[in-house]
Amino acid sequence: MFADLHLHTNFSDGTYTPEELAGHAQRCGFRAVALTDHDTVDGCARMAASCESAGLEFIPAAELTTEMGGHEVHVLGYYLDIQNPRLGEQLRRFQEVRRGRVFEMVARLNELNIPLQTEAVFALANCRSPGRPHIARALVQGGWCSGLDEAFERFLKKGKPAWVPKFKIGAAEAIELVHHAGGLASLAHPGINHCDEIIPDLVAAGLDGLECFHTKHSTSTTQRYLEMADKHQLLVTGGSDCHGMSKGRPLIGSIKVPYECVERLRDRMQRRAVEGGFLLAGDP
Ligand code: AMP
Ligand code: ZN
Ligand code: FE
Ligand code: FE
Repeated sequence: MFADLHLHTNFSDGTYTPEELAGHAQRCGFRAVALTDHDTVDGCARMAASCESAGLEFIPAAELTTEMGGHEVHVLGYYLDIQNPRLGEQLRRFQEVRRGRVFEMVARLNELNIPLQTEAVFALANCRSPGRPHIARALVQGGWCSGLDEAFERFLKKGKPAWVPKFKIGAAEAIELVHHAGGLASLAHPGINHCDEIIPDLVAAGLDGLECFHTKHSTSTTQRYLEMADKHQLLVTGGSDCHGMSKGRPLIGSIKVPYECVERLRDRMQRRAVEGGFLLAGDP
């Protein structure tokens, strides 16, 4: 019995609809999945319904863009109350800034004599949490780039001419927000972010888990983070980070997290709720 706890849909920069993603998850034989779209929980309601029809356990979640000590850090929030007002307010702020960033990046492309229009990007993104992959797809669609890699390499990667820094909240603030919304916070793909030195600070800020299993983690990297999770008494999470088709096949199914990890996550969340650690009545 396995799970995939890191998945994206077209409610952020994935290409599958929640229904398509649930179908893939079912065919892969998963027992549980989490939807972790960037800075949004908009896809969770539809994903919950599709998972229910497919007989899959669903965990409402999100991947928040944060920073600590100059590192970009992605914080995964699991078992979020997607109706939580403060969470909703923060997500709306993220989405507003993401929209503004599209205008800025397109303006830079226009200065580079690429007449891409923001409308084309928004039409293609068709969601409230647009990002660089949508601009990359629009560049390919318009014939300015031959593929997504070229779009990132020439224009969109950090330091390239159309790159605009992303709005981030403090990682400790994100962990607190996840807790406030009844959830548990896990550090996404530490092996990509090279942020090991801040893990103790994240733990001090209340981090609950570490994403040990990830498509971009080698076996030895996974092992290193499993040991680190053990050392800091962190829950183990993991997932494929599937965004749809990638080089001819979807990533979903490439990472199989033992279902036991979900049980531990659920136990911790329920214990916290009982202890009254979250959401006291009347809490703003
Ligand atoms: P953004 O949230 O706008 O900064 O975009 C980040 C997203 O872009 C990541 O989550 C990936 O899905 C995608 N991405 C980042 N680098 C690349 C790349 N070199 N090629 C294709 N997609 C990328
Ligand atoms: Zn993404
Ligand atoms: Fe990420
Ligand atoms: Fe992701």
